[in-house]
Amino acid sequence: MADCVFCKIVNKELPSNVVYEDEKHIAFLDIGPVNPGHTLVVPKKHAINIFDIEEDDLKELVAVVKKISMAVLKGVEAHGVNVSMNNGKVAGQLVNHIHFHIIPRFQDDGFRHWSHGKYKSGQAEEVVKRIKKILK
Ligand code: AMP
Ligand code: ZN
Repeated sequence: MADCVFCKIVNKELPSNVVYEDEKHIAFLDIGPVNPGHTLVVPKKHAINIFDIEEDDLKELVAVVKKISMAVLKGVEAHGVNVSMNNGKVAGQLVNHIHFHIIPRFQDDGFRHWSHGKYKSGQAEEVVKRIKKILK
């Protein structure tokens, strides 16, 4: 897709530090790493995010994410990894071409998780009802 930075990386119109490539996927270092080894795993076929990608394509993508997660963990001798995806602008999605972040984590690396809230009385039940209604 024109004007998509990750399509340009896929097509080698933009440089990147590629750690893995197959027929349908590419994985490269994030240009602004949370920690060294922070890797993005991207399907070559353009889809915007989890709401847009075909289910079979997502399954294949997740299999690659597992493989690259193991390699990142061992490659940079991390103690764990965060695997995450931002979907939608409000969720922090900056690049509108679906990608998983694999973020190596180290003891006391200072990277903070999101904070946890609390449900008000009856709120959890109401939320469950609303989500289940959609899933019917
Ligand atoms: P997101 O907020 O999930 O859309 O994340 C987009 C990520 O892409 C950010 O972490 C950026 O640092 C990264 N990024 C943007 N442009 C490039 C690029 N040309 N090469 C590598 N990573 C990039
Ligand atoms: Zn794209």
